[in-house]
Amino acid sequence: MEEKNAMSECIFCRIVKGEIPSKKVYEDENFVAFHDIDPQAPVHIIVIPKKHIESLNEATEEDAKLLGEWVFTARKIAEKLKLDKGYRIVINTGPQGGQVVLHLHLHLLGGRNMGWPPG
Ligand code: AMP
Ligand code: ZN
Repeated sequence: MEEKNAMSECIFCRIVKGEIPSKKVYEDENFVAFHDIDPQAPVHIIVIPKKHIESLNEATEEDAKLLGEWVFTARKIAEKLKLDKGYRIVINTGPQGGQVVLHLHLHLLGGRNMGWPPG
């Protein structure tokens, strides 16, 4: 029951269901990608599995194939958006990792030089 409530209130699950509008750049059976509402780079795309997994820490061995396809999907989106000079993929995990939205997502950032170390 708790899990069900978490999913129905989850902002990214609501984007998957079309209950919250988003600027989608990609969608298939398992993944959705859309523009971040508060972009931190000229290109800032959020790529999510449709399956509600709270964070990388909640993914299981059974999700390994999905996780691989997820990263590969991000690469294909980077190609589609012509980020041929490079890009950065970020997976914030847990409070110290800076994760705010509790639905597994990666940030695909590009269009400018990225600093290191990250903040
Ligand atoms: P994180 O800090 O890794 O959890 O990042 C969550 C990201 O989701 C932030 O960059 C937010 O700007 C972004 N975000 C939150 N709500 C929305 C929304 N409705 N549409 C698009 N991006 C969103
Ligand atoms: Zn969710």
